[in-house]
Amino acid sequence: LASRDFHPDDTIIEVKGVKIGGEHLAIMGGPCAVESPEQIDLIAKLVKDAGAQILRGGAFKPRTGPYSFQGVGVEGLKMMAEAGERHGLLTITEVMTPEYVDVCAEYADILQVGTRNMQNFDLLRALGTCGRPVLLKRGFSATYDELLNAAEYILAGGNRDVMLCERGIRTFETYTRNTLDLSAIPVLQGLSHLPVISDPSHGTGRRELVEPMAKASVAAGANGLIIEMHNDPDNSMTGDGVQSLFPDQFSNLLKDLEKLAPLV
Ligand code: PEP
Ligand code: MN
Repeated sequence: LASRDFHPDDTIIEVKGVKIGGEHLAIMGGPCAVESPEQIDLIAKLVKDAGAQILRGGAFKPRTGPYSFQGVGVEGLKMMAEAGERHGLLTITEVMTPEYVDVCAEYADILQVGTRNMQNFDLLRALGTCGRPVLLKRGFSATYDELLNAAEYILAGGNRDVMLCERGIRTFETYTRNTLDLSAIPVLQGLSHLPVISDPSHGTGRRELVEPMAKASVAAGANGLIIEMHNDPDNSMTGDGVQSLFPDQFSNLLKDLEKLAPLV
């Protein structure tokens, strides 16, 4: 079902009037984690003013260590839903377990599968019937074929609104947190009709590389970008402040991107 042979035309996913896929560029911006109602409301305003359409933010955070901040949970979903509604933005958030699919689908417009859960097959099956579009992140050691097979699990359950996301893979290089695999964008678009979104934030792990890699992703044909932005990155509650753009960097980047492709 994910293959271009099955479905020759690009899939366009329409969420409350916003079209993802095809010629337009979908921009998802926001913090790594939802921290407080004030934080997500302030960032939502900045995301909207910059011209993006979708607010990102994790309420459930998949942390490498068990003692790190794990996210504010269901309360965070509510905070983000309110901020999204107040500022006229769609919302995207990560869901980590099948048990939480329903509540995440209740509060968010798009559900995200994180890199660590790309092959959580029970989760993928649950997302097949969740009634929400899904952004599926590539596992940091997954091949294209494995990513497409993971998407197949969601599609096979009846959910045809799946986006693929390149978020960097693990290589021998340690200067960057991951290596953003730009080739994934045209390769996946050749093999599949599904929209391909790039994540230059996790793909590089370094703020100064987000802008060039966002632009490179668009040049390579990405259908959208998911970018971390924080009002006070140095004091963010996850380690991802170092890769989060400052608000003015985010809005300047969007001005430049608009020259390359129309924002949705
Ligand atoms: C995130 O988007 O904040 C995140 C945890 O991403 P990934 O799953 O790509 O590490
Ligand atoms: Mn993050």
